[in-house]
Amino acid sequence: MLLYKNSSLRNYNSLHLESAAESLGIFTNISEMQELRRLLTEFRGKIRIIGSGSTILLQGNLSGLTLVNKFRGADVIEEEDDKAIVGVNSGEKLDTFLKWCAEKKLYGLESLSGVWGSVGGALVRNESSFGRAIGDRVSGVKVFELETSSEKNLSREECEFDYHSSIFRAKAKNRFFISRIKFVLDKVHSPNLNYREIKQIMRSRGISDLDAESYREVVLEYRKSRFPGKGFYHAGQFFENPLIPVSKVESLLELYPDISFNKIDENSVRVPVRWLIEKTGWKNMNIGQAFAWQKNPAILTHRGNAKPQDFLVLVHLIKKEVMEKFGIELNELVTFL
Ligand SMILES: Cc1cc2nc3c(=O)[nH]c(=O)nc-3n(C[C@H](O)[C@H](O)[C@H](O)COP(=O)(O)OP(=O)(O)OC[C@H]3O[C@@H](n4cnc5c(N)ncnc54)[C@H](O)[C@@H]3O)c2cc1C
Repeated sequence: MLLYKNSSLRNYNSLHLESAAESLGIFTNISEMQELRRLLTEFRGKIRIIGSGSTILLQGNLSGLTLVNKFRGADVIEEEDDKAIVGVNSGEKLDTFLKWCAEKKLYGLESLSGVWGSVGGALVRNESSFGRAIGDRVSGVKVFELETSSEKNLSREECEFDYHSSIFRAKAKNRFFISRIKFVLDKVHSPNLNYREIKQIMRSRGISDLDAESYREVVLEYRKSRFPGKGFYHAGQFFENPLIPVSKVESLLELYPDISFNKIDENSVRVPVRWLIEKTGWKNMNIGQAFAWQKNPAILTHRGNAKPQDFLVLVHLIKKEVMEKFGIELNELVTFL
């Protein structure tokens, strides 16, 4: 395994923030497992994992071992008439894996096309798009327990997938290195087309139905339009869409008749964080070189010169203003390392 001392992490985080790792290990293939085990023992209690670094904010230099996971590759394990079980190494890029699935004509995760990050990282936050979450298709996860360097197989239930969450982000945070994931995929393509954004693109393309290939293209087009383009560095949507009681949204409706929300159940709704931040006026403001993107202020970005501190202050002020204006607490989706 490649191991570096005092190495820059600028190229290992999508925010492109400068920070140095005291020890940086790049894990790329199965032959390095023994070395990985040795390092896990040597650096016990002082290990951080980075996949593609698309949802992390590096606050400063990192002591101990920073492990960058580039363990890639996927294969079909088992096939039935209508389904297949596939295995993918956790450092594989999610979209590379989805392209591979499309080539194999295996479906179920294609609404996540174009989402940045590694498959392992996507599992941590149970990434979802157009009503489908990655955890829905998991059949098992192989992990290393960092404390004991022992291998374990977790079932889907044991992963405790939830809205943008899993056991890896909640009660077992920093406990495991996810090494390999098994998914159950369908041989029949059955996307949910019942989304305004999908319908809009279909209309603009003059089509009324989508085969698997064009569905992927439509999702990719949608995703491209949703994020800042070249020259901007960001980590996707920075905050969760907060869950609030129906009674709270009813009182907000009196003050803000244009408030938008998605009903989750009889008692709760999720309010788009984008709408909340827009109402606070943070849309056009910046701290140092960091700013909330004008088209969608839930995305915090910069052109390459911001310091971690700029983002930390920006995050603090946005959260404060949303709390003061709406009495709603925002939680970060991005992990602070
Ligand atoms: C342009 C863009 C578009 C996006 N679109 C969407 C979207 O539509 N829907 C959505 O839900 N999300 C979306 N995201 C979020 C993004 O896809 C996820 O955050 C991503 O999957 C995280 O993977 P990563 O490898 O980059 O994780 P990293 O940022 O490297 O790590 C995130 C966290 O996971 C941990 N981690 C990573 N790999 C492992 C591992 N192997 N074992 C244990 N822990 C690990 C890290 O320690 C860290 O705590 C988007 C992000 C961007 C930048």
